[in-house]
Amino acid sequence: MENKEQNETSAAAEIAQDAGKRTYPEKTYTFKTELGKQVQNGDIKDIDDILNKHLKILEPQIIDFLIPNLQSDFLYVGQSKGKLGGGKRRIVRNTQKVTAKAKRQHFSAMAVVGDGNGHVGIGKGRGLESVVAKEKALKTAKLNLIKIPRGCGSWECACHGGHSIPIKISGKCGSTTVTLFPAPKGISFCVMDDIKIIMKLSGIKDVWSMVQGQTHTRINVGYATFDALKSLSYYRFFDREKQNLGIKG
Ligand SMILES: [Zn+2]
Repeated sequence: MENKEQNETSAAAEIAQDAGKRTYPEKTYTFKTELGKQVQNGDIKDIDDILNKHLKILEPQIIDFLIPNLQSDFLYVGQSKGKLGGGKRRIVRNTQKVTAKAKRQHFSAMAVVGDGNGHVGIGKGRGLESVVAKEKALKTAKLNLIKIPRGCGSWECACHGGHSIPIKISGKCGSTTVTLFPAPKGISFCVMDDIKIIMKLSGIKDVWSMVQGQTHTRINVGYATFDALKSLSYYRFFDREKQNLGIKG
């Protein structure tokens, strides 16, 4: 039995090496969905092949496999408790429900994943413990991965590069409206701290912003920013515009 297992694992490793010379950390993991099997066999070697066809990703391991240098971070959606030193910002939000017997605690977190090169995802997780909430958030963020076209739409710069966004975009969640403007080189992030985390992981280097509405709920700020970035893919550009704005991807 052991020999058989060893043979299987070595065969799987060889196949994985062929598929772009990448091996998933857990070699024993076998993909269950059809898309996952295609990725493991090496038929799909690029994440853009999946995203361009708008295929539904059901396994977060596909993202781990195709983007080995994936980075992750958490938004500061919660606050610490206590009379002294309370109110400090934390990455896990703690909420309570009062029942007849006891107070039931729930934890929630919001994760951002990205490769710093035009791919970014965001997701929320909730659970009875903080570790569970974080893991769920990471899983959801990987499944929500999108591709964003970058460019330089600033009239002050006009470098035809891909360091900013090509056009003005805005997104909404709840009462929060986030508007992002293209900025010239050297401006860096002129945004809120939580939007900064999303911008860093998405690969945008210079951006101006305006936020309207209630910003106390950071979850809504995160979703509104993601909504704005998503709206970039709704536009269709002519070839001349693509050249002028320096749109990549
Ligand atoms: Zn520029």
